Amino acid sequence: MSKALLIGCGGVGAVIAHKCCQNHEVFSELTIASRTKSKCDELKAILVQKYGKTKVETAAVDADNTAELVELMKKIKPDICINAALPYQDLTIMDACLEYGVDYLDTANYEHPDTAKFEYKWQWAYRERFEKAGLTAVLGCGFDPGVTGVFCAYAMKRYFDEIHYIDILDCNGGDHGYPFATNFNPEINIREVSAKGSYIENGEWVETEPMEIKRVYNFDGVGEKDMYLLHHEELESLALNIKGIKRIRFFMTFGQSYLTHLKCLENVGMTSIKPIDYQGMKIVPLQFLKAVLPDPASLGARTKGKTNIGCIMQGTKDGKPVNYYVYNICDHEDCYKEVGSQAISYTTGVPAMIGAALVLTGEWKKAGVYNVEEFNPEPFMDALNKWGLPWKECFEPALVE
Ligand code: NDP
Repeated sequence: MSKALLIGCGGVGAVIAHKCCQNHEVFSELTIASRTKSKCDELKAILVQKYGKTKVETAAVDADNTAELVELMKKIKPDICINAALPYQDLTIMDACLEYGVDYLDTANYEHPDTAKFEYKWQWAYRERFEKAGLTAVLGCGFDPGVTGVFCAYAMKRYFDEIHYIDILDCNGGDHGYPFATNFNPEINIREVSAKGSYIENGEWVETEPMEIKRVYNFDGVGEKDMYLLHHEELESLALNIKGIKRIRFFMTFGQSYLTHLKCLENVGMTSIKPIDYQGMKIVPLQFLKAVLPDPASLGARTKGKTNIGCIMQGTKDGKPVNYYVYNICDHEDCYKEVGSQAISYTTGVPAMIGAALVLTGEWKKAGVYNVEEFNPEPFMDALNKWGLPWKECFEPALVE
């Protein structure tokens, strides 16, 4: 019987809210707070009609404003604060959690709006303050980061003494029928994919040009897809938290139409985050582009196909080599039928609900700031099977060339 405060009511926030209402034994009360309150009210009407057991409230909040967040927390007295707003708000929300005294969970690490570079140093700097306050902060509890970290921790606990190589493979085989659209917040998505790629080898970051490294992989449930090496946030924490890492990389699939449009938009300056003067106003081209692109939350009804996201690992147990691949396949249309969202929001929202539930029930409650792989992976792996993201494992995978 707990009260959750959910901040952000976009594609991911909506799935978290559905899943909290499905798990009403843990989430007896839920307040959905976001910048645009009308979106929270619309969602509340659906949740109340569909589930009816969790008590749902809504509120307007500017999550860039710590004082406003603290006022809201004082009013509703939450047991956990789930951040499904944007990475820009991570620090103000963590500040509010410390000031009011409540546990924290998010799905993406902090990024400054003016610099397209995400790294954990900003949030890891809160460790001592959360420890002293006796509060838990769970970082990056979506799918990737999130489930990918839990997969690695589970593999480490069960099958390996050391993991030397990890390839994280994120395949979206879905088709929404638009020539160009992004599956989550367009601004965050385009900042991520137009940045330089990087991976960690022998303790050092190796940088590549954007989309420089391409591979083809045959994904279970999806088929053969082109995938590209990207910088991704969980590489940084996994390289520290998993024993024996020699190399860790992240690949994501992209279709040719997406890449051609992205290149063109880049070439004409539409993906820039530097403000420009437009008719006496300052506008950021990428934010303007977001305004004309389809809202990711609206893609659910049109998207067909499956995602396949998982981790391939190679290492040793008792001195013998071990290969291991663990992944989830998720169907866009099934997600839409269940919660009215496409699979990218679904695969992010389900793990966030699970992580929050584990903190609330005490299994993941420990004072400090942690990445998901630092908690016991077993209850999380069981919960994935229970709440809609069943996983498969295989012991003869080939690492990516
Ligand atoms: P959306 O843009 O759909 O939703 C963001 C929500 O946050 C909107 O409701 C928005 O309000 C609200 N918001 C933005 N700024 C503020 C603010 N200052 N105060 C209050 N509310 C605010 O994004 P998504 O749902 O697609 O993504 C949410 C998060 O999930 C992002 O951080 C993204 O990086 C992360 N993510 C993580 C993944 C993972 O696997 N780990 C995968 C996909 C996404 P408004 O409606 O007014 O704009």
